[in-house]
Amino acid sequence: MQDNEISIIIPVYNECNNLQDLYDRLIKTLAGITDYYEILFINDGSTDDSMSKIRAIAETNQKVLFIDLSRNFGHQIAVSAGLEHCNANCTVIIDSDLQDPPELIADLYSKYKEGFDVVYAKREKRKGESFLKKLTAKLYYRLLKSIVSFEIPLDAGDFRLVSKKVINAIISMPEQNKFLRGQIAWLGFKQTHVLYHRDSRKYGKSAYTYSKMFRLAFDGITGFSDKPLLFVSRLGFVISIFSFLLIIFAVFSHYVLEQTITGWTSLIISASFIGGIQLLSIGVIGEYISRINVNVKNRPLYIVDASNIDTSEKKEK
Ligand code: UDP
Ligand code: MG
Repeated sequence: MQDNEISIIIPVYNECNNLQDLYDRLIKTLAGITDYYEILFINDGSTDDSMSKIRAIAETNQKVLFIDLSRNFGHQIAVSAGLEHCNANCTVIIDSDLQDPPELIADLYSKYKEGFDVVYAKREKRKGESFLKKLTAKLYYRLLKSIVSFEIPLDAGDFRLVSKKVINAIISMPEQNKFLRGQIAWLGFKQTHVLYHRDSRKYGKSAYTYSKMFRLAFDGITGFSDKPLLFVSRLGFVISIFSFLLIIFAVFSHYVLEQTITGWTSLIISASFIGGIQLLSIGVIGEYISRINVNVKNRPLYIVDASNIDTSEKKEK
């Protein structure tokens, strides 16, 4: 049997109204690329009819595969499950809410054919997302870029094509807190991008709540940089020097100048300032400890409930 040329990985969480449209557009695009493709849906614990819709699509086309996870594990883990079980020379990761236009896959693929291992889709415009989301994303990626020691693409999500080489490298990275766009950037290889306009979501609403976004943002930083730890230890150092000088001054003014400053204000300010810095620093350390904790437990990343492929072992491709 000939190997698949291209595999499409699609994480799905409550997207039943988008799936048919997505599938139709994918099939049209793939027709212009190759007959040897697979489409792999990963149902991430949807509570609507997404899974029955996926099964219905899979009945009509044997190149449509699915993995039904036992509950909602989150977008990054759903994509990781897809990466572990896809089987093709190159693989595209695409959202199922039609924010990433399937037609762009043709452009991603032609860059791959030019010899690139990673072709990410860079958002030139983002429609239908709040000002706050766009602003925080913009600031966050610039902050991340400034503290990691490798090139991280700005304004790109997970919509991208990666070669088999990259997938094998990704699945050899054992961390439990996934931040795939960072991991792929960290890997290196020949990377390029194509520009696109990110549409607004067709149906439904974003499952990325601010708390999930914060989680992802923290994973991005703690997974790829120790700078926050260095920052708090330096901050501690600077504040200790400052406090030490203040102590000398207090003792001096009490015993030598014989003037004791009476002041509730100065006391309360310094106590809350130091208290705040301490909590912040403990919080930063806590983020790193929590990563260690999750990784030490070494649980499986996700549990499969049902699938029409063999998911019993991760295979080297
Ligand atoms: N998704 C998922 N699990 C989740 C949340 C989202 O598989 O827990 C999928 C979702 O169906 C979509 C993609 O991940 O295909 C991106 O999610 P969403 O559109 O909510 O994120 P946004 O585009 O707002 O960043
Ligand atoms: Mg979306």
